[in-house]
Formats: sequence, C-alpha cells, structure tokens
Amino acid sequence: MSRNSWVGVDLDGTLAHYDHWISEKHIGEPIPAMVDRVKRWLEKGIQVKILTARAIDLDVVQLIQEWCYKHIGQTLEVTNKKDFGMFELWDDRAVRVVKNTGMPCCKRYKGEDGYSSMRKYILSSIDFCNEEINLPGRDPNSNVITAFRERKSAFLDMFNFIDHEKGE
Ligand SMILES: [Mg+2]
Repeated sequence: MSRNSWVGVDLDGTLAHYDHWISEKHIGEPIPAMVDRVKRWLEKGIQVKILTARAIDLDVVQLIQEWCYKHIGQTLEVTNKKDFGMFELWDDRAVRVVKNTGMPCCKRYKGEDGYSSMRKYILSSIDFCNEEINLPGRDPNSNVITAFRERKSAFLDMFNFIDHEKGE
C-alpha cells in the first residue's frame, strides 16, 4: 500500500446514524461497529478519509472534524472527491459490482412500498453466485458466468481458510 493510499468512509448512514435529513449542522450518533473499525485502521497506520457530499460546505467540514475528534479521538480529512489513492470505500448507498462484468454483488430488494432498490441489499455471497450461474438461458461459457464461477471459487477458498483458522 503506498503512502497516499486511503480508505473512504461515508458519514451519514455509515459512520453516523441517519434516518432522515434534519439539517446540514446535524450529525447523527456514532455507529459503534464502524467507529471501532475506523479506530483499528488508524491504529494500524491506515489513512482514513470521510467521503461525503457534505464536504462542499467548509463550516460543515469543521463540524464533521469536531465530531470525529469527539468520537474517534482525532480529526480526519473530509472530502467529496475520490482520487487514485482511494483503495476502498465504505458507503451505505454503494452498489458493489463484480469487476469488469457490470453485475451487482447483491440481490435486488423490493421494499414494502414496492420500490425496488439495490441499496437495501441482501448479502448472499455463494448463494448469489449459484443463482447467477444457474439462471436459465445463460450461456455457461459467457464472461459473466466465468466471473461468477471464479467469484464462487474465491468465496469457497475464503470459507475453507476461515474454517482452517478456526481449527475445523
Ligand atoms: Mg450515506
């Protein structure tokens, strides 16, 4: 990892609790699991930036930095820009795709209001790969299916590794 590498962490709904818009000055309560994860990264020397659309307002940037100091123990850079150093992004709105396939890594979810969204996802890993591979009418030799086969194989390797680490 180069010196300029960083991981981007969204604010609303990822690092800070978010239900609905209150005001640009309002930042929700910290989400403990995410705050603890960021602290662990920082302890390891990994650079973390807050990546949020709110960074357009410098007064709000200052509020976010104060929030970070209070809940994380240090101020973090706040930006609304990706650059080539960003190696990972944690965000509640992102829909991850399988590289070079255009295929999402999560299932479409239909909410009670009938609105269908990829954002409210169901993580499925191997199940999802199986479903994609076995869809009727799919060319078994297509690039997409090959990508899913590789992905499934990678998941299986990962789970075997975890089992091995657990001594099972
Ligand atoms: Mg968000």
